[in-house]
Amino acid sequence: MSETLCPCGTGKPYANCCGLYIEGGQLAPDPEALMRSRYTAFFQCNYPYLKKTWHPETYPEDLEQGEPSNWVGLEIIDASWEDDEGEVEFKARLIFDNRLEVLHEISDFEKIDGVWLYHSGEFLHDDEPVKIARNAPCPCGSGQIFKDCHYQA
Ligand SMILES: [Zn+2]
Ligand SMILES: [Zn+2]
Repeated sequence: MSETLCPCGTGKPYANCCGLYIEGGQLAPDPEALMRSRYTAFFQCNYPYLKKTWHPETYPEDLEQGEPSNWVGLEIIDASWEDDEGEVEFKARLIFDNRLEVLHEISDFEKIDGVWLYHSGEFLHDDEPVKIARNAPCPCGSGQIFKDCHYQA
């Protein structure tokens, strides 16, 4: 595993963050850690991990047919859990079609046989996607301008 920073935004190396759960065989200890690792798995298009952490009742069979997105940031707004149920509110930012979109969701998690799983989510109101100027700093935080980074011609 590389020493690069984890895409989920904790500021920790991937190997000491979501990598522990995605590649290290450890179980995410709580819904927030699971949410972060699933964001990172979306970032990686790691469908086996997404499936493994998805409640079988709600897993969408067509997940892998969706177009991959460029995920550029995760912000956890609130997370709580008790016994076998938990909830995480987050905003995930992605670039799609040269626009910045913010996905604001409250996700429900369930613990089954000691393993936290994502069950389902409720979308909250989102702003319209915003077109990113070609010469603006890229929203991914790379420090490059957009047209030299995530821009798609
Ligand atoms: Zn992480
Ligand atoms: Zn970028």
